Amino acid sequence: MKRGRKVKILATLGPSSSTEEMIGKLYEAGADVFRINMSHASHDLMRDLVKRIRAVEKGVGRPIGILADLQGPKLRVGAFAEDAVTLEPGQTFTLDDRDEPGDASRVHLPHPEILEAVQPGHRLLIDDGRLQLVAEESDGHKIVCKVVSGTKISSRKGVSLPDTTLGVGALTEKDRSDLEAVLKEEIDWVALSFIQRPEDLAEVRKIARGRVGLLSKIEKPQAVERLSEIIELSDAIMVARGDLGVEMPLESVPGIQKQIIRAARKAGKPVVVATQMLESMISAPVPTRAEVSDVATAVFEGADAVMLSAESAAGDYPVEAVETMSRVAEKVERDSLFSGILNAQRPEAEATGSDAISAAARQIAHTLKLSAIVCYTSSGTTGLRASRERPDTPVIALSPVIETARRLALVWGLHCVVTEDAVDLDDMVDRACRIAYREQFAKPGDRIIITAGVPLGTPGATNMLRIAYIGSDGLSGI
Ligand code: PGA
Ligand code: MN
Repeated sequence: MKRGRKVKILATLGPSSSTEEMIGKLYEAGADVFRINMSHASHDLMRDLVKRIRAVEKGVGRPIGILADLQGPKLRVGAFAEDAVTLEPGQTFTLDDRDEPGDASRVHLPHPEILEAVQPGHRLLIDDGRLQLVAEESDGHKIVCKVVSGTKISSRKGVSLPDTTLGVGALTEKDRSDLEAVLKEEIDWVALSFIQRPEDLAEVRKIARGRVGLLSKIEKPQAVERLSEIIELSDAIMVARGDLGVEMPLESVPGIQKQIIRAARKAGKPVVVATQMLESMISAPVPTRAEVSDVATAVFEGADAVMLSAESAAGDYPVEAVETMSRVAEKVERDSLFSGILNAQRPEAEATGSDAISAAARQIAHTLKLSAIVCYTSSGTTGLRASRERPDTPVIALSPVIETARRLALVWGLHCVVTEDAVDLDDMVDRACRIAYREQFAKPGDRIIITAGVPLGTPGATNMLRIAYIGSDGLSGI
């Protein structure tokens, strides 16, 4: 199946979308990569979902990406004696290390590392910012706060700390055990939540040993501050607007989104825009105008992928949400202003053979109106550099490695096909032509451009460009 757009769609699975049948429908509707949220999925459920996705993949004969999203240090208050307590702005409220049910004056905070790290003046945002506290005193065992705004708190609500850098690493005990389980399955990407500093990635990279790509979710101000270093050490990035909008003023999120997308595009690392893209479709079959505009903005900016969370995981219209996203993306990419806006942000080619050839391939394909750019990529690097050029010509990424093809499913504009390495140059040209024809990118008589590294089969930089005609039978190149 050939998609009618370059931007990819990442759909989160959940109660509304856990069966093989539903996963198949979401794929047909346009989902390219599926997200399994480890905050909600048990290891057994995760394994079942992977099996079902791989069964769908086998049925459709196209590589599908899977992303497992680790919960990260998501902090929560303890339990209250009553369902909920009511607070008054201006009153004092204490978070402490006493494991006893809370009341209107105090509650347990089961995270010693926060009790240690919070300093007077730091804000504590409870329940996605609905309740705002500011610390007045802290002694390592308790934090005495003043209520700034909001009036309600109840058991196990989340706590965000926009002003506090925590001493914890990126992985909690739960993350560590989830990561171990994830690495045993056919999973392509692992998302790391609440990354604060570049060092957080090092530990995970050591455990993952290249078996998955690491996607850093940018959802803390500390991560925004050290964005370029984090991008450098990550394989992909997510603009995690949900928590970002709690930890930073909401009105700063659109600018940060643009900043992250530009930086990731420049580095040639895939970037995903996430959260509330079609939020109203959780309970309605059509989105709002503002949501359509939000998806369109991400597509115009050249994001690699747009994501659905509750819309596909727990909503009433998961298939419609994917279809809507896909339709909006197709329309935007056909807009007469699209390529101008997209190209305005195209980064310079770096001084490598691979970049020079990717840039030349884009230019030649555009000038000669070629039908496809076909790139041989075994590790995926050449595919990523070809995509970084954001060519208007379709890009077919050929890889002998299924894991590479699956991972590249997240990447802008790449149509990935698994095929053996070519045995010689003639085979390389024939194979590229045959696949471009079979995958309906080119007809007999059309021309394509092929990029590869020769000698073939030796991993290394791309160093060859070749223009070829599709033969009259579609079976060979000339
Ligand atoms: P989450 O991450 O859905 O796991 O919280 C995305 C976000 O915060 O936007
Ligand atoms: Mn988040």
